[in-house]
Amino acid sequence: MRAGRTDYRMARRALLREVSEGLRSVGDVCDAHPDLMRAGRNVGEVVPDPCPICEATDLRLVTYVFGNAKGGVKQHGRVVPRGDRGGIAVRAGDAAGYVVEVCTSCAWHHLRESFWLGQQAAGAQKT
Ligand SMILES: [Zn+2]
Repeated sequence: MRAGRTDYRMARRALLREVSEGLRSVGDVCDAHPDLMRAGRNVGEVVPDPCPICEATDLRLVTYVFGNAKGGVKQHGRVVPRGDRGGIAVRAGDAAGYVVEVCTSCAWHHLRESFWLGQQAAGAQKT
């Protein structure tokens, strides 16, 4: 797959540091939307790492794709089963994808990675 990806590990680490230093409450960062929780349970990819907040091994990755295409993917995000990114790209033309991690135990969630699919991916220098 062609790249054009942004990694959010730095932001995640900074956020977790704020939580550990008490600058931010756990309730602030563990407020995943019920739809995201459901997607995590149903189609999420299991992550071997423990949740950074509650340390349960209930961390899941959910991939969303937002397309601007003719037919297929709509403007609102669509949950993509892991492994189907290529298929979506073919159907959607250009699309932006977001991988979100969510803990199905405590509702911690954070954007992990964003990427471009399709033709824009080749020349994209997006941040
Ligand atoms: Zn958790």
